[in-house]
Amino acid sequence: MDISLYKGIWIFAEQKEGVLIETSLELLAKAVELKRIGGEEITALLLGEAVAGLEDVLISYGADQVIIVEHPVLKTYKTIPYADAAVKVINKYKPSVFLLGATAIGRDLAPRIMARLGTGLTADCLDLSMEKEGTLIQTKPSYGGNIMCSITIPMHRPQMSTVRPKVFSPMIEETHRKGNIIHESIDLAEDNRTQVMSVIPKASSGQSIDKAEVIVAGGRGIKDKTEMALLEELAELIGGRVGVSRPLVDEGWMNHEEQIGQSGNTVKPKFILNVGISGAVQYIVGMQKAECILTINKNPAADIFDISGFGAVADYTELLPAIIAEIKNRKLGF
Ligand SMILES: Cc1cc2nc3c(=O)[nH]c(=O)nc-3n(C[C@H](O)[C@H](O)[C@H](O)COP(=O)(O)OP(=O)(O)OC[C@H]3O[C@@H](n4cnc5c(N)ncnc54)[C@H](O)[C@@H]3O)c2cc1C
Repeated sequence: MDISLYKGIWIFAEQKEGVLIETSLELLAKAVELKRIGGEEITALLLGEAVAGLEDVLISYGADQVIIVEHPVLKTYKTIPYADAAVKVINKYKPSVFLLGATAIGRDLAPRIMARLGTGLTADCLDLSMEKEGTLIQTKPSYGGNIMCSITIPMHRPQMSTVRPKVFSPMIEETHRKGNIIHESIDLAEDNRTQVMSVIPKASSGQSIDKAEVIVAGGRGIKDKTEMALLEELAELIGGRVGVSRPLVDEGWMNHEEQIGQSGNTVKPKFILNVGISGAVQYIVGMQKAECILTINKNPAADIFDISGFGAVADYTELLPAIIAEIKNRKLGF
Protein backbone atom coordinates (compact mmCIF):
# COMPACT_ATOMS: atom_id res chain seq x y z
CA MET A 1 0.00 0.00 0.00
CA ASP A 2 1.41 3.39 -0.98
CA ILE A 3 0.41 5.41 2.07
CA SER A 4 1.60 8.66 0.48
CA LEU A 5 -1.56 8.57 -1.68
CA TYR A 6 -3.77 8.96 1.41
CA LYS A 7 -4.50 12.48 2.65
CA GLY A 8 -7.02 14.12 4.93
CA ILE A 9 -8.73 13.58 8.26
CA TRP A 10 -12.24 12.17 7.99
CA ILE A 11 -14.90 11.81 10.62
CA PHE A 12 -18.09 9.79 10.36
CA ALA A 13 -20.96 12.23 10.88
CA GLU A 14 -23.39 9.96 12.67
CA GLN A 15 -26.99 11.10 12.59
CA LYS A 16 -30.22 9.63 13.83
CA GLU A 17 -33.46 10.60 12.12
CA GLY A 18 -31.78 13.62 10.59
CA VAL A 19 -30.22 14.88 13.83
CA LEU A 20 -26.44 14.79 14.29
CA ILE A 21 -25.32 13.11 17.48
CA GLU A 22 -23.02 15.19 19.66
CA THR A 23 -20.15 12.70 19.27
CA SER A 24 -19.82 13.76 15.62
CA LEU A 25 -19.12 17.32 16.78
CA GLU A 26 -16.67 16.06 19.41
CA LEU A 27 -14.75 14.19 16.70
CA LEU A 28 -14.64 17.36 14.60
CA ALA A 29 -13.09 19.27 17.51
CA LYS A 30 -10.34 16.66 17.79
CA ALA A 31 -9.87 16.68 14.01
CA VAL A 32 -9.28 20.45 14.18
CA GLU A 33 -6.50 19.84 16.74
CA LEU A 34 -4.94 17.14 14.54
CA LYS A 35 -5.11 19.47 11.55
CA ARG A 36 -3.01 22.01 13.44
CA ILE A 37 -0.25 19.38 13.67
CA GLY A 38 -0.45 17.66 10.30
CA GLY A 39 -2.15 20.38 8.25
CA GLU A 40 -4.56 17.94 6.65
CA GLU A 41 -8.07 19.02 5.62
CA ILE A 42 -11.08 17.79 7.57
CA THR A 43 -13.91 15.98 5.83
CA ALA A 44 -17.17 14.83 7.41
CA LEU A 45 -18.80 11.80 5.78
CA LEU A 46 -22.56 12.09 6.05
CA LEU A 47 -24.71 9.10 5.10
CA GLY A 48 -28.50 8.94 5.21
CA GLU A 49 -31.68 9.88 3.43
CA ALA A 50 -32.84 13.49 3.33
CA VAL A 51 -30.00 14.73 5.54
CA ALA A 52 -29.63 18.05 3.73
CA GLY A 53 -28.98 20.90 6.14
CA LEU A 54 -26.65 18.95 8.39
CA GLU A 55 -23.66 19.86 6.22
CA ASP A 56 -23.90 23.49 7.41
CA VAL A 57 -23.79 22.32 11.02
CA LEU A 58 -20.74 20.16 10.32
CA ILE A 59 -18.93 23.04 8.63
CA SER A 60 -19.77 25.44 11.42
CA TYR A 61 -18.23 22.96 13.91
CA GLY A 62 -14.94 22.55 12.04
CA ALA A 63 -15.37 20.49 8.83
CA ASP A 64 -13.63 21.93 5.74
CA GLN A 65 -15.61 19.64 3.48
CA VAL A 66 -18.70 17.43 3.73
CA ILE A 67 -19.27 14.44 1.50
CA ILE A 68 -22.93 13.49 1.45
CA VAL A 69 -24.34 10.19 0.27
CA GLU A 70 -28.13 10.19 0.26
CA HIS A 71 -30.01 7.04 -0.67
CA PRO A 72 -33.29 5.40 0.43
CA VAL A 73 -31.44 2.33 1.76
CA LEU A 74 -29.50 4.60 4.13
CA LYS A 75 -32.65 5.93 5.80
CA THR A 76 -32.28 3.71 8.88
CA TYR A 77 -28.87 2.42 9.91
CA LYS A 78 -28.02 -1.03 8.61
CA THR A 79 -24.48 -2.39 8.64
CA ILE A 80 -24.12 -3.56 5.04
CA PRO A 81 -25.47 -0.57 3.07
CA TYR A 82 -23.65 1.87 5.36
CA ALA A 83 -20.39 -0.09 5.01
CA ASP A 84 -20.88 -0.32 1.22
CA ALA A 85 -21.36 3.44 0.94
CA ALA A 86 -18.44 4.32 3.22
CA VAL A 87 -16.02 1.91 1.55
CA LYS A 88 -16.86 3.19 -1.94
CA VAL A 89 -16.29 6.81 -0.97
CA ILE A 90 -13.13 6.03 1.04
CA ASN A 91 -11.67 4.08 -1.90
CA LYS A 92 -12.34 7.06 -4.16
CA TYR A 93 -10.93 9.83 -1.94
CA LYS A 94 -8.32 7.91 0.11
CA PRO A 95 -8.31 9.67 3.50
CA SER A 96 -5.35 9.15 5.82
CA VAL A 97 -7.45 9.07 9.00
CA PHE A 98 -11.06 7.97 9.56
CA LEU A 99 -12.61 8.55 12.99
CA LEU A 100 -15.93 7.21 14.23
CA GLY A 101 -17.65 7.55 17.60
CA ALA A 102 -17.50 4.48 19.84
CA THR A 103 -21.29 4.46 19.80
CA ALA A 104 -23.43 1.41 19.09
CA ILE A 105 -23.43 2.32 15.38
CA GLY A 106 -19.75 3.31 15.23
CA ARG A 107 -18.70 0.11 16.99
CA ASP A 108 -20.73 -1.94 14.54
CA LEU A 109 -19.69 -0.12 11.39
CA ALA A 110 -15.97 0.50 11.95
CA PRO A 111 -14.72 -3.12 11.98
CA ARG A 112 -16.76 -3.94 8.89
CA ILE A 113 -15.16 -1.04 6.99
CA MET A 114 -11.72 -1.89 8.38
CA ALA A 115 -11.94 -5.49 7.17
CA ARG A 116 -13.12 -4.46 3.70
CA LEU A 117 -10.28 -1.95 3.36
CA GLY A 118 -7.66 -4.26 4.83
CA THR A 119 -6.46 -1.58 7.22
CA GLY A 120 -6.11 -1.19 11.01
CA LEU A 121 -8.60 -0.01 13.63
CA THR A 122 -8.10 0.97 17.26
CA ALA A 123 -11.36 0.64 19.17
CA ASP A 124 -12.53 2.77 22.09
CA CYS A 125 -9.81 5.42 22.10
CA LEU A 126 -9.66 7.98 24.90
CA ASP A 127 -7.26 10.32 23.15
CA LEU A 128 -5.64 10.97 19.79
CA SER A 129 -2.62 12.92 18.67
CA MET A 130 -0.54 13.03 15.54
CA GLU A 131 3.09 13.03 14.51
CA LYS A 132 4.12 15.70 12.01
CA GLU A 133 4.35 13.25 9.12
CA GLY A 134 0.75 12.13 9.71
CA THR A 135 0.98 9.04 11.91
CA LEU A 136 -2.01 8.96 14.25
CA ILE A 137 -1.23 8.12 17.90
CA GLN A 138 -4.25 6.37 19.33
CA THR A 139 -4.46 6.08 23.12
CA LYS A 140 -6.69 3.54 24.82
CA PRO A 141 -6.86 1.49 28.02
CA SER A 142 -5.31 -1.98 27.78
CA TYR A 143 -4.80 -5.08 29.88
CA GLY A 144 -8.17 -4.76 31.56
CA GLY A 145 -7.75 -1.01 31.76
CA ASN A 146 -4.70 -1.17 34.00
CA ILE A 147 -2.45 0.68 31.57
CA MET A 148 -2.95 3.21 28.80
CA CYS A 149 -1.27 2.26 25.55
CA SER A 150 -0.52 4.18 22.37
CA ILE A 151 -1.21 2.39 19.10
CA THR A 152 -0.14 3.38 15.59
CA ILE A 153 -1.02 1.95 12.19
CA PRO A 154 2.19 2.74 10.31
CA MET A 155 1.79 0.66 7.12
CA HIS A 156 -1.90 0.95 6.26
CA ARG A 157 -4.44 3.63 5.47
CA PRO A 158 -6.85 4.96 6.48
CA GLN A 159 -5.84 4.89 10.12
CA MET A 160 -9.16 4.07 11.77
CA SER A 161 -10.25 4.73 15.36
CA THR A 162 -13.46 4.65 17.30
CA VAL A 163 -13.46 7.29 20.03
CA ARG A 164 -15.48 7.24 23.22
CA PRO A 165 -18.28 9.78 23.41
CA LYS A 166 -17.67 12.73 25.76
CA VAL A 167 -13.88 12.58 25.86
CA PHE A 168 -13.59 15.68 23.65
CA SER A 169 -15.69 18.84 23.73
CA PRO A 170 -17.29 20.28 20.58
CA MET A 171 -15.91 23.62 19.41
CA ILE A 172 -18.00 26.74 19.64
CA GLU A 173 -20.23 26.92 16.57
CA GLU A 174 -19.01 29.41 13.93
CA THR A 175 -21.93 29.88 11.57
CA HIS A 176 -19.92 32.11 9.19
CA ARG A 177 -17.49 29.26 8.30
CA LYS A 178 -17.54 28.16 4.66
CA GLY A 179 -16.78 24.72 3.33
CA ASN A 180 -16.93 22.50 0.31
CA ILE A 181 -19.97 20.26 -0.15
CA ILE A 182 -19.83 17.20 -2.38
CA HIS A 183 -22.85 15.04 -3.20
CA GLU A 184 -21.79 11.52 -4.17
CA SER A 185 -24.36 9.40 -5.92
CA ILE A 186 -23.65 5.74 -5.40
CA ASP A 187 -25.46 2.57 -6.45
CA LEU A 188 -26.41 0.81 -3.26
CA ALA A 189 -28.41 -2.37 -2.82
CA GLU A 190 -30.81 -3.09 0.02
CA ASP A 191 -29.56 -5.75 2.43
CA ASN A 192 -32.40 -8.24 2.32
CA ARG A 193 -30.85 -10.46 4.97
CA THR A 194 -31.90 -8.02 7.66
CA GLN A 195 -34.99 -5.92 8.06
CA VAL A 196 -35.58 -3.09 10.53
CA MET A 197 -39.11 -3.78 11.82
CA SER A 198 -39.32 -0.72 14.06
CA VAL A 199 -37.11 1.64 16.02
CA ILE A 200 -38.04 1.90 19.70
CA PRO A 201 -36.38 4.69 21.72
CA LYS A 202 -34.51 3.33 24.72
CA ALA A 203 -36.58 3.57 27.90
CA SER A 204 -34.84 5.93 30.26
CA SER A 205 -35.37 7.02 33.81
CA GLY A 206 -34.88 10.67 32.79
CA GLN A 207 -31.82 12.70 31.85
CA SER A 208 -29.02 10.32 30.93
CA ILE A 209 -26.01 10.26 33.23
CA ASP A 210 -23.59 11.34 30.49
CA LYS A 211 -25.48 14.63 30.14
CA ALA A 212 -25.74 15.34 33.86
CA GLU A 213 -23.94 18.46 35.08
CA VAL A 214 -23.95 17.35 38.70
CA ILE A 215 -23.35 13.76 39.80
CA VAL A 216 -23.28 12.08 43.19
CA ALA A 217 -21.53 8.76 42.58
CA GLY A 218 -21.53 5.81 44.95
CA GLY A 219 -19.19 2.83 45.09
CA ARG A 220 -18.61 -0.42 46.93
CA GLY A 221 -18.00 1.53 50.12
CA ILE A 222 -21.78 2.01 50.37
CA LYS A 223 -22.71 -0.63 52.88
CA ASP A 224 -26.27 -1.37 51.97
CA LYS A 225 -28.65 -0.74 49.08
CA THR A 226 -30.96 1.24 51.36
CA GLU A 227 -28.12 3.72 51.94
CA MET A 228 -28.32 4.75 48.29
CA ALA A 229 -31.24 6.86 49.54
CA LEU A 230 -28.68 9.21 51.13
CA LEU A 231 -27.01 9.74 47.75
CA GLU A 232 -30.41 10.16 46.04
CA GLU A 233 -31.42 12.78 48.60
CA LEU A 234 -28.21 14.76 48.20
CA ALA A 235 -28.39 14.52 44.39
CA GLU A 236 -31.94 15.83 44.45
CA LEU A 237 -31.01 18.72 46.75
CA ILE A 238 -28.21 19.87 44.43
CA GLY A 239 -30.07 19.17 41.18
CA GLY A 240 -27.94 16.21 40.17
CA ARG A 241 -28.07 12.54 39.26
CA VAL A 242 -26.82 9.45 41.02
CA GLY A 243 -24.11 7.47 39.28
CA VAL A 244 -22.22 4.39 40.43
CA SER A 245 -19.02 2.44 40.04
CA ARG A 246 -19.29 -1.01 38.53
CA PRO A 247 -19.60 -3.17 41.68
CA LEU A 248 -22.99 -1.62 42.46
CA VAL A 249 -24.23 -2.53 38.98
CA ASP A 250 -22.83 -6.05 39.39
CA GLU A 251 -24.74 -6.23 42.70
CA GLY A 252 -27.91 -5.33 40.83
CA TRP A 253 -28.45 -2.17 42.92
CA MET A 254 -28.40 0.13 39.88
CA ASN A 255 -28.67 -0.19 36.10
CA HIS A 256 -25.79 -0.20 33.67
CA GLU A 257 -27.01 3.16 32.35
CA GLU A 258 -25.92 4.68 35.69
CA GLN A 259 -22.45 3.08 35.60
CA ILE A 260 -19.45 5.37 35.15
CA GLY A 261 -16.20 4.08 33.71
CA GLN A 262 -14.47 2.13 31.02
CA SER A 263 -17.27 -0.38 30.55
CA GLY A 264 -19.98 2.15 31.47
CA ASN A 265 -20.52 5.80 30.62
CA THR A 266 -18.01 8.58 30.14
CA VAL A 267 -19.28 11.62 32.01
CA LYS A 268 -18.09 15.21 32.00
CA PRO A 269 -20.13 17.01 34.67
CA LYS A 270 -19.37 20.38 36.21
CA PHE A 271 -19.29 18.68 39.60
CA ILE A 272 -18.95 15.08 40.78
CA LEU A 273 -18.89 13.79 44.35
CA ASN A 274 -17.38 10.30 44.73
CA VAL A 275 -18.60 8.45 47.79
CA GLY A 276 -16.94 5.18 48.82
CA ILE A 277 -15.08 4.81 45.52
CA SER A 278 -11.39 3.83 45.57
CA GLY A 279 -10.36 5.28 42.18
CA ALA A 280 -9.57 2.25 40.03
CA VAL A 281 -8.30 3.29 36.63
CA GLN A 282 -11.37 1.78 34.95
CA TYR A 283 -13.57 4.16 36.97
CA ILE A 284 -11.35 7.20 36.59
CA VAL A 285 -11.21 7.05 32.78
CA GLY A 286 -14.96 7.57 32.80
CA MET A 287 -15.03 10.74 34.94
CA GLN A 288 -11.61 12.40 35.03
CA LYS A 289 -12.75 15.24 32.73
CA ALA A 290 -15.22 16.51 35.35
CA GLU A 291 -14.62 20.19 36.10
CA CYS A 292 -14.73 19.82 39.88
CA ILE A 293 -14.05 16.49 41.61
CA LEU A 294 -14.88 15.93 45.29
CA THR A 295 -14.36 12.74 47.22
CA ILE A 296 -15.46 11.20 50.49
CA ASN A 297 -13.46 8.12 51.43
CA LYS A 298 -12.42 6.79 54.81
CA ASN A 299 -9.06 5.60 53.48
CA PRO A 300 -6.63 8.54 53.17
CA ALA A 301 -4.47 6.50 50.76
CA ALA A 302 -7.31 5.89 48.26
CA ASP A 303 -6.15 6.66 44.70
CA ILE A 304 -9.28 8.71 43.99
CA PHE A 305 -7.82 11.53 46.12
CA ASP A 306 -5.01 11.96 43.54
CA ILE A 307 -7.47 13.30 40.95
CA SER A 308 -9.77 15.10 43.39
CA GLY A 309 -9.75 18.87 43.78
CA PHE A 310 -11.30 18.49 47.25
CA GLY A 311 -11.50 15.49 49.53
CA ALA A 312 -12.73 14.47 52.94
CA VAL A 313 -11.24 11.50 54.77
CA ALA A 314 -14.44 10.49 56.46
CA ASP A 315 -17.11 7.86 56.89
CA TYR A 316 -19.91 8.77 54.50
CA THR A 317 -22.51 7.49 56.97
CA GLU A 318 -21.57 10.43 59.20
CA LEU A 319 -20.61 13.07 56.64
CA LEU A 320 -23.43 12.73 54.09
CA PRO A 321 -26.27 13.26 56.61
CA ALA A 322 -24.39 16.28 57.97
CA ILE A 323 -23.99 17.77 54.46
CA ILE A 324 -27.65 17.14 53.67
CA ALA A 325 -28.75 18.76 56.93
CA GLU A 326 -26.49 21.77 56.31
CA ILE A 327 -27.81 22.27 52.77
CA LYS A 328 -31.36 22.04 54.03
CA ASN A 329 -30.60 24.53 56.79
CA ARG A 330 -29.05 27.03 54.47
CA LYS A 331 -31.56 26.22 51.71
CA LEU A 332 -28.67 26.26 49.27
CA GLY A 333 -29.41 25.81 45.57
CA PHE A 334 -26.93 24.72 42.90
C1 LIG B 1 -12.24 -4.68 31.91
C2 LIG B 1 -12.73 -4.00 33.14
C3 LIG B 1 -13.63 -2.97 33.01
C4 LIG B 1 -14.07 -2.30 34.16
N1 LIG B 1 -14.95 -1.28 33.99
C5 LIG B 1 -15.31 -0.57 35.08
C6 LIG B 1 -16.16 0.56 34.95
O1 LIG B 1 -16.64 0.91 33.86
N2 LIG B 1 -16.47 1.25 36.08
C7 LIG B 1 -16.00 0.90 37.32
O2 LIG B 1 -16.33 1.59 38.30
N3 LIG B 1 -15.22 -0.17 37.46
C8 LIG B 1 -14.88 -0.92 36.38
N4 LIG B 1 -14.09 -2.01 36.56
C9 LIG B 1 -13.82 -2.45 37.95
C10 LIG B 1 -12.67 -1.69 38.61
O3 LIG B 1 -11.46 -2.34 38.33
C11 LIG B 1 -12.86 -1.63 40.13
O4 LIG B 1 -13.00 -2.94 40.63
C12 LIG B 1 -14.06 -0.81 40.58
O5 LIG B 1 -14.04 0.47 39.97
C13 LIG B 1 -14.01 -0.64 42.09
O6 LIG B 1 -15.16 0.04 42.50
P1 LIG B 1 -15.20 0.85 43.85
O7 LIG B 1 -14.15 1.92 43.84
O8 LIG B 1 -16.61 1.27 44.06
O9 LIG B 1 -14.89 -0.27 44.94
P2 LIG B 1 -13.61 -0.52 45.84
O10 LIG B 1 -12.37 -0.54 45.04
O11 LIG B 1 -13.90 -1.72 46.67
O12 LIG B 1 -13.53 0.77 46.79
C14 LIG B 1 -14.43 1.02 47.83
C15 LIG B 1 -13.93 2.25 48.56
O13 LIG B 1 -14.88 2.63 49.53
C16 LIG B 1 -14.19 3.14 50.66
N5 LIG B 1 -15.07 3.02 51.81
C17 LIG B 1 -15.50 1.88 52.41
N6 LIG B 1 -16.35 2.17 53.41
C18 LIG B 1 -16.46 3.54 53.44
C19 LIG B 1 -17.18 4.44 54.23
N7 LIG B 1 -18.01 4.01 55.23
N8 LIG B 1 -17.07 5.77 54.01
C20 LIG B 1 -16.23 6.24 53.03
N9 LIG B 1 -15.52 5.40 52.23
C21 LIG B 1 -15.64 4.07 52.43
C22 LIG B 1 -12.94 2.27 50.76
O14 LIG B 1 -11.90 2.95 51.46
C23 LIG B 1 -12.60 2.06 49.29
O15 LIG B 1 -11.67 3.04 48.84
C24 LIG B 1 -13.64 -2.70 35.44
C25 LIG B 1 -12.73 -3.75 35.56
C26 LIG B 1 -12.27 -4.38 34.42
C27 LIG B 1 -11.27 -5.50 34.59
